[in-house]
Amino acid sequence: MTAAVFFALMIGAAILIGTIWSIRFIATGPPAEPDLEDVREVDVPYVCSVCGLSLTVTEAHEGNIAPPRHCREDMIRV
Ligand SMILES: [Zn+2]
Repeated sequence: MTAAVFFALMIGAAILIGTIWSIRFIATGPPAEPDLEDVREVDVPYVCSVCGLSLTVTEAHEGNIAPPRHCREDMIRV
């Protein structure tokens, strides 16, 4: 009997935590729109270390450009 109560409490706690997480996720909303006036022309080539796909980033915000991901890996700047 106590094992059944324990599992019921664990399932209830999991549902409660999942519900709270979902509400926080929805309440946060999408990230702010990027300021398009800060976008500059750049020429940064990347290659995927797994499949060899290459691409060039031609427009980005000022500062450090985060490498795009392909095949679940960060692409390598060449
Ligand atoms: Zn790839």
